[in-house]
Parts: sequence; C-alpha cells; structure tokens
Amino acid sequence: MIGKLDGKIPPGPLEQKWRNHKNNSRLVSPNNRRKFEIIIVGSGLAGGSAAATLGELGYRVKCFCYQDSPRRAHSIAAQGGINAAKNYQNDGDSVFRLFYDTIKGGDFRSREANVYRLAEVSNLIIDQCTEQGVPFAREYGGLLANRSFGGAQVSRTFYARGQTGQQLLLGAYQALCRQIALGTVKMFPQTEMLDLVLVDGHAKGIITRNLCTGEINAFAGDAVVLATGGYGNVFFLSTNARGCNVTATYRAYKRGALFGNPCFTQIHPTCIPVTGQHQSKLTLMSESLRNDGRVWVPQRAEDCSKPPNDIPDADRDYYLERKYPSFGNLAPRDIASRAAKEVCDEGRGVGPSGRGVYLDFADAISRLGEDTIRERYGNLFDIYQKISAEDAYKMPMRIYPAVHYTMGGLWVDYNLMSNIPGLHVIGEANFSDHGANRLGASALMQGLADGYFVLPYTLPNYLAGQIGKRPSTDHAEFKRVESEVRERVKKLLEVNGDRTLTLFHRELGLLLWDKCGMTRNAAGLREALGKIPELRGEFWKKVRVPGEGESYNQSLERAGRIADFLEFAELLCIDALERDESCGGHFREEHQTPDGEAQRDDENFAAVFGWEFQGNGKVERPKLHREPLHFEAVHLSQRSYK
Ligand SMILES: Cc1cc2nc3c(=O)[nH]c(=O)nc-3n(C[C@H](O)[C@H](O)[C@H](O)COP(=O)(O)OP(=O)(O)OC[C@H]3O[C@@H](n4cnc5c(N)ncnc54)[C@H](O)[C@@H]3O)c2cc1C
Repeated sequence: MIGKLDGKIPPGPLEQKWRNHKNNSRLVSPNNRRKFEIIIVGSGLAGGSAAATLGELGYRVKCFCYQDSPRRAHSIAAQGGINAAKNYQNDGDSVFRLFYDTIKGGDFRSREANVYRLAEVSNLIIDQCTEQGVPFAREYGGLLANRSFGGAQVSRTFYARGQTGQQLLLGAYQALCRQIALGTVKMFPQTEMLDLVLVDGHAKGIITRNLCTGEINAFAGDAVVLATGGYGNVFFLSTNARGCNVTATYRAYKRGALFGNPCFTQIHPTCIPVTGQHQSKLTLMSESLRNDGRVWVPQRAEDCSKPPNDIPDADRDYYLERKYPSFGNLAPRDIASRAAKEVCDEGRGVGPSGRGVYLDFADAISRLGEDTIRERYGNLFDIYQKISAEDAYKMPMRIYPAVHYTMGGLWVDYNLMSNIPGLHVIGEANFSDHGANRLGASALMQGLADGYFVLPYTLPNYLAGQIGKRPSTDHAEFKRVESEVRERVKKLLEVNGDRTLTLFHRELGLLLWDKCGMTRNAAGLREALGKIPELRGEFWKKVRVPGEGESYNQSLERAGRIADFLEFAELLCIDALERDESCGGHFREEHQTPDGEAQRDDENFAAVFGWEFQGNGKVERPKLHREPLHFEAVHLSQRSYK
C-alpha cells in the first residue's frame, strides 16, 4: 500500500537545504563500503558518473549496459552543451537565476528544492570535467567559453563544438575505466536488464539477458540504481538513439515503482524534417544553432515554393522574433515548437512536405564571417549536408519539431530513491527536475549532477541500515522472477505471426504523435486509449520474431522493448488525459490563453502525478498518487517570453 507521496524535502531555507541535508545524512564508513554491492543499470552520463564515483568511494559496483561499450551510450549524441551558473561572462548569472529559469522553463511543475540543488551543483560539474580534461571551448584568452540556450537571457552553456555529450562521456568513461582496472567496478556490456527483484519489499536484484548468448542470469545487490535514459522512442521517430527504450523503468513500474508524469515529453524545434516512411530515426540540429540562426517562413503561402534566397526580407516572417521580442530565436523549446507547427498549419511551411521552417545563417555569416560559423557549428553543418544534400552556408537549413527528450520517468524523492526502498533512479530515467519542459543543455547537467554529486551523498541514507541484508540469488523471489522472464521471452518467440516489429512500432508511434504529440485533446486521447489495447492484442497474435532465444537475436531484443512500449503508451495517454490543463510541452488544446499559450491550472494541477501499476488496459486502470508542489521562493505566474 502506497500512502502519501513524500518527496522528503529537507527543512530550512531553500539555499541551505542541500548543505543541511548532506550534514545530516547517514554515512557508510570506508571499511564497510566494500561490503556493499551496488547494481547500476546504465553507463551513460548518469550511470557512468555514478559507477565511477561509487567505485572511487570504495563500494563494489556492478554496472550493466546493452551496448558493446559504455562509450556508446546515447549520451554520446548530445551536441549543444551543458549549463552551469559560473557567470564567467559577468552577464548577471547566478545560482538563483539558473534555478529560476529552470523552474519557469518547466512551467512550474518541478520541485523547488531539487531544482535549486541542481543549479548549485552545476558549477562543480564544470570543475570536475575540466579537471578530467574535457576539452570545453575556450575564449581567445584561454578562459572557458559560453553560449546561450533557450529560455535564458544569459550565456551559461559550456560546450565542446557540437560534441559536448561525447566529450563529457569520454571524461566519465575514463573515470569508469580506472575503477574497472582497480576492480571496484565490474562492467557487464551487452547485458539487458529485463526485470527487477524485490525481497521483502526492497529492491535487491535484477534479472538480465546476455545479448550475445541469450543466457538469462540473476544478480543480487544491496541497492539497485536505474540510469537507463529516456523513452522518446515510444513515438517511433525521435532524435534518440535507436536503442533507447522504456523496458527497465517500465518493468520496475510493474513491480511497484511509481511512474512520474509520463506524458511530459519534449518536442525539439530544430530537427531535420521527416522525408518519408523509410526513416527509422530523426536527426537533431542543436539548439545552439539558434544563437546565430534566424527562424523564418514566408509571409505568404504562395511564396513557399520559391527558393529561400529569392524571398526578400520584407516578405519573410521571423515569427519567433515577432512573437517573443525579448527571447526571439531563443524562446524555449515547447514554445518554439508550437510556433513552428502553427505557421505550418497556416500553410506557410516550406520543403516538399510543407512541414518545415527555415533556420537562416546569412546574417550571422555576413556579420561574423563563414570561418567563425564553421568553427562554432561545423560538424552540425556537415551532418545537415550529409542528410539533406544542401549547403547551409549558402542556403537556410530546413527544420521541424521532433520528439527529443522525456521529462517523465520513475518518481523519486529528494534522495533520488523511488517509492521502492533501495531502488534509486538517476538521469533521464527519473521524473527529473525539468517539470513540464526541459531547457536546453540542462539534461547533461542533471545526469552528471545525479551521478557525480547527489547520489554518492544520498545513497548511504539507504545503505546505512542494510549491512548484511543482501540476499543470495538462490532466494525464491529471484527464482520466481527469473522464470517469469524466461516465460515472456518464450512467449514472444512463439507468436510466429506474419507482421514485422517495425509495422507495430511505427503504427504505435504515429498514433501517439497524432493524438498525444505537440498538442493533445480529450477526444483524441480517448481515441488513442481505445486503439492502443487493440494494437497490443494484434501484436501478441500476429508479430513475427525470427531467430531463437539462446543466441544473438536483435529482433528478440526489439520485440521485448516494443511490447513494453505498447503497454507504456497507454499509461502515457492516461496521464495526458488526467492532466486537464496545459503546461510546458503538455499542450491540451482545451486550455490555452487568448494568444495561444499554455494555460496552467495551478489550483488543481500543481502536483507531480505518480502512477501505480494495477494491471494493463481496461481491466484495471493504474492508480494515481499526487505529490503537491509547494513554491516558496518563486511566484507562480503565466510564463512569458515576450
Ligand atoms: C541528439 C540529442 C542531442 C542532445 N543534446 C543535448 C545537449 O546538448 N545538452 C543536454 O543537456 N542534453 C542533450 N540531450 C539530452 C541528453 O543527451 C540525454 O538526456 C542524456 O544524455 C541522458 O543520459 P542518461 O545517462 O540519463 O541516459 P543514456 O545516455 O541514454 O544512457 C542510458 C544507459 O542505460 C543503458 N540501458 C538502458 N536500458 C537498459 C536495460 N534494460 N538494461 C541494461 N542497460 C540499459 C544503456 O545501455 C545506456 O548505457 C540530447 C539528446 C539527443 C537525443
């Protein structure tokens, strides 16, 4: 029975909460740390940094990932940068301002205390990564450079060209490798967690499948940390790496962990537009480009087919600069995405599909020179050229919004522990500090904050009472869950139908994009909720999963993940329907201000929604638990970037 949801926010003034909490947290003494085995699932920025840090502290860590190397986690794709409140630019930034921008950017749907801690810790991350040798861009004089991202009027984003995630991951990976060599961390690549094991209500282990041999194994630990990333691929097309999925968090949900705000999805405004049915993923053009690129569409629909360079300035609508003069092209992602949809809905979209807007660098090139633009964004322009066969130095890029990030995830308290004792969740996998809309360059900040600087302090609060309580994998619960996993794998292989996995995934994704994408309404969500169980039923009757269970079988891997998406999509739509307000990326058409912005309902919905599994589908709807959000330091207001 889950009682009242307690975020365990420490008492005291906002700016002292984290310090006080650390001072009052329990400790595990150095000679006891080696007695604990910590299971970490995921070795991206969140999991990799946590594994390296806990290993360095002396814990024994087992770290799992499904790629062949931690180096290939999805975090490597991050392009634009990482925020921190260093105020190196002397442009008025501060911890409070980063905190405030993040809370406001998330449309006041995140916890004040968590977000303040994130802003505080941000500065330590930059120091840590610089010490590791991460090659952040530097000014002429040698100081670290910054650029701006959406939703901020200061320059606080640290970057390494358009490869920030890769460079940060190399830093974390080096630290991880050191621990692997020292024997504190044991790495299990190409190993997928397929279930969570609870013993006496505590998370004490996982069941995995070795992706090379198909072997199913059980691992016991004193605590389990999920750092398994986001689930944007439920929409089929997204900017996420192809492997990103919901399996680990969803299966933990089915074992009793609450899923927080599953409908909060981020749709990024600057992606290369969809070109046809052949695509299996979409490509991001980093938000950093909006520092120098100007977004526009023709004023008149009849000009849309003209070459962009033939359209004079007077006939262009720089709609973000027009609608949001204070933030202009750096309006936050949710707002910039909806604005792009709006002009395309009006028939002013460009490109073959009519679903595109221009991102134009002509002004910046004439002001700063092509070399400067190449130095700042060269690799992004190259990616664009390879995909579109167009030279963005000569003509504007075409971009359109696409699914990019998920603010929803497993519910956690201030200690990053879920409602299941021992189960901790970090990085994009938790319901996170970003409320209903994440600001650009804040995901890397959160993942590394969680892994390097928060979990190592909060985990001992759980571990300190757990000495000697690690069960053996001979325990009956391990046997029971393991046999359920085997049964599910067998069932997937036995369907032996004639429809491909891609057909099911694409159909689900299109349905979600249509009914629960950039905008949502009650009728559409009800329609989706009718169709998802039907599609799921079809899947279990008609899907074809070739190959066997006891070998390398990528179809089987995908089948398990798509089966989970087919259940999870329903939860996502239930959440979107229940949240009868608009906020951030969750735009319910029924609730908009007269000028078409998201209209929150603070009286009824200033809360985190935590969903408890009760059974799939119409048989038993998940049960809703609410954690009310209290704001002391910020004043709730209609978000404005005008
Ligand atoms: C194209 C792109 C660009 C981005 N650019 C930026 C940016 O510039 N700045 C920014 O702040 N954010 C950016 N983001 C967001 C950011 O990259 C991610 O939110 C962040 O990297 C997530 O890190 P993570 O460690 O939580 O998860 P991930 O990096 O996704 O790692 C997940 C890990 O979990 C493992 N895993 C998952 N499921 C299982 C399982 N069942 N069993 C075993 N292992 C499992 C994977 O193998 C992997 O190791 C970008 C995102 C995209 C898509």
